[in-house]
Amino acid sequence: MELTNKIAVITGAGSGIGRASSLKLAGNGATVVLVDFNKETGEETLKLVKEQGGEGIFVQADVSKTDDVQNYVNKAVETYGRIDIFFNNAGVIQKFAPFTSVEEPEYERIMAINVKGVFLGMKYVLKVMEEQGGGSIINTASTAGIRPEHSVAVYSASKHAVIGLTKGAALEYAKKGIRINALCPGGVETALTAGVAKQFETGDYIPEEVSNMRMGRYAKPNELAEMVAFLASDKASYMTGSVVLVDGGLTL
Ligand code: NAD
Repeated sequence: MELTNKIAVITGAGSGIGRASSLKLAGNGATVVLVDFNKETGEETLKLVKEQGGEGIFVQADVSKTDDVQNYVNKAVETYGRIDIFFNNAGVIQKFAPFTSVEEPEYERIMAINVKGVFLGMKYVLKVMEEQGGGSIINTASTAGIRPEHSVAVYSASKHAVIGLTKGAALEYAKKGIRINALCPGGVETALTAGVAKQFETGDYIPEEVSNMRMGRYAKPNELAEMVAFLASDKASYMTGSVVLVDGGLTL
């Protein structure tokens, strides 16, 4: 995927899918603006980007905070002049629990990061892309955005919302040269799924039905990064408003 001279902003760049995609986009020639709540892991990703000969900066931000979002968007534009690719990816999973035991702060945390964070990122990046006359946005949803995962209804609702935001914005911006697609991973080997597995192992919570891994394994983060690089590139020039599954058949 040819991404030379493209400027890419990636949220959740410190770990998992975000880190693998940062390395993939940079490896394909993009200059990267790495965004994460976690300074240490975000800077580590930047180090890895530079070790493979890439170029970029790290900006610490909480994606659910307006000031932080404006700051990372402004930093990207001040430093590199434009934003061609936006991988709007930072997200968190709720604690597996019966519906009635989910407390309001947990509901608010999930919605703030997974929905408001994605909304704010798009709001401020779209202004930049509209002005420059084009761009590609990839929002990370989930298979849980298509049909629910057991015992995480709020997370599922948040990912359905990401798909709604993606399609709504794609419709508005299709004639303006801005493509907006949603990526739906199934199970991916990351810190997020490690946390879930720990909850099951300790017997803290065992859902009645754990989703089947049809291929008998989780995805490697890099298997998602390949799709991110494709959607980011001009090779995906006729794709917008698409909900792209990379789930190893999980939803079959
Ligand atoms: P991860 O935990 O490995 O990485 C997520 C990154 O986001 C971390 O570096 C974390 O510090 C950062 N982050 C969390 N909250 C933030 C905030 N408020 N502001 C800025 N950064 C924040 O997780 P991952 O598995 O790579 O998940 C990435 C995305 O993929 C998420 O949106 C997740 O919901 C989605 N997803 C993951 C899976 C999976 O199986 N791992 C499946 C479907 C969807």
